[in-house]
Amino acid sequence: MTDITPPSSPSPASTTGRSFNELPLSPGMLATLQQLGYLTMTPIQAASLPIALAGHDLIAQAKTGSGKTAAFALALLTRLNPRRFAVQAMVLCPTRELADQVTQEIRRLARSADNIKILTLCGGSTMRPQIASLEHGAHIVVGTPGRIMDHMERGTLNLEALNTLVLDEADRMLDMGFYDDIAFVAKRCPAERQTLMFSATYPDGIARLARQFMRAPQEVKLLEQHEESKIRQRFYKVEDGDRLQAVGLLLKHYRPVSTLAFCNTKQQCRSLLEVLHAQGIKALTLNGDLEQRERDQVLIQFANRSSSVLVATDVAARGLDIAQLEAVINVDVTPDPEIHIHRIGRTGRADQDGWALSLCSPADRHRIIGIAQMMRIEPEWHELGELPSADEAPLVPPMVTLQILGGRKEKIRPGDVLGALTGEAGYTREQVGKITVTDQSTYVAVARNIANDAVRKLSAGKVKGKTVKVRAL
Ligand code: ADP
Ligand code: MG
Repeated sequence: MTDITPPSSPSPASTTGRSFNELPLSPGMLATLQQLGYLTMTPIQAASLPIALAGHDLIAQAKTGSGKTAAFALALLTRLNPRRFAVQAMVLCPTRELADQVTQEIRRLARSADNIKILTLCGGSTMRPQIASLEHGAHIVVGTPGRIMDHMERGTLNLEALNTLVLDEADRMLDMGFYDDIAFVAKRCPAERQTLMFSATYPDGIARLARQFMRAPQEVKLLEQHEESKIRQRFYKVEDGDRLQAVGLLLKHYRPVSTLAFCNTKQQCRSLLEVLHAQGIKALTLNGDLEQRERDQVLIQFANRSSSVLVATDVAARGLDIAQLEAVINVDVTPDPEIHIHRIGRTGRADQDGWALSLCSPADRHRIIGIAQMMRIEPEWHELGELPSADEAPLVPPMVTLQILGGRKEKIRPGDVLGALTGEAGYTREQVGKITVTDQSTYVAVARNIANDAVRKLSAGKVKGKTVKVRAL
């Protein structure tokens, strides 16, 4: 997927970090970082980039959202020879969504270099086009272990020129039972290579993997630090029977534009979705039953602010990079305090405030004690009765997603769509949100009040010189 975000969205730059100029990066790369608004290194980047750029094996651990992708992307891009048409770097990711996000971030970072080909190889897509793309030549492949293994077994993925192997979200890959697949892949990579492993947590399997495939890895660990000032945490007392209804009350009271609502089970996700829909709240859920295209659409609609709520289990939400999240709601409290800290760390990023709201039945109280101990906080208890009644103004997302049939296959780029909307159709840059190009479709977020009009104008006009089919999701 290719994204552009309008300039109005904040970039998570901090004024205290260290500059990328300290690193042995090309002038083109430094310019790209500047353009992307990456003004200083995040702490994990500052700690790991000098090691990775020096060619050492590395195990890096830091929480979700800390900028791990760029930490390995800069290392592998620096080493890459664009004139050599062979796979020189490979990134293993646990899921297709994460692989897409990584591909997207590498593409953004690679834009100053000439024509670097990056391929995503994941299950759920047919093999044939992947094989054709591989035959065409790629510099970097990003994919899930199972599908990469498939290609290796069929002989369609040649790794003789590989010099960098990255295991991203290694903990999550282990959770998903990929140990043997990773072992299979790593064993067949050239021995002379650099291996970089990134992880949000550090379970036992990580050390076991490292012993098997890494050479004197250096370790960098950044302990989870939340500036409590940015995440405001409140605990609401509920009875189990009121739990799902209470979510709507919280949403109507706090009115966050984007909320990630965590449930402990898939069944609870489904039930919550029904309740929210009945209350007229635009909510979507991610689960394993969705087809890949549907999953993409869910993530796109949530990330571009045309759905108020994303309902998910920890497994479904892990690793997803959602930039602006005003609130996290723990519909169910998790039994694991570390997971709780992870969940709420999704909000309050990039110097913005975030709400972390947890619904706690009497049976959950002991879990809150564990969380409070680990976070060294005094829980702030509230009653649902303090919240206004349900007849508040409805919560409406600011944007609507338009789907244009035609994507990367048709060589559509974000700029083509932005051009059509701000040119002929006459809209302002501010009325257009995030634009995401997938293989078959392009998704553009537009301000809710122009959505119908924009569908009409786009259908009547042209994108990239062609008539297109458009619909609002
Ligand atoms: P992680 O893999 O640790 O979960 P990501 O690599 O997905 O984190 O990065 C999270 C977000 O931070 C992304 O939107 C990315 O574009 C942004 N980001 C990464 N590095 C920087 C930086 N140095 N300055 C500003 N933003 C950054
Ligand atoms: Mg990541």
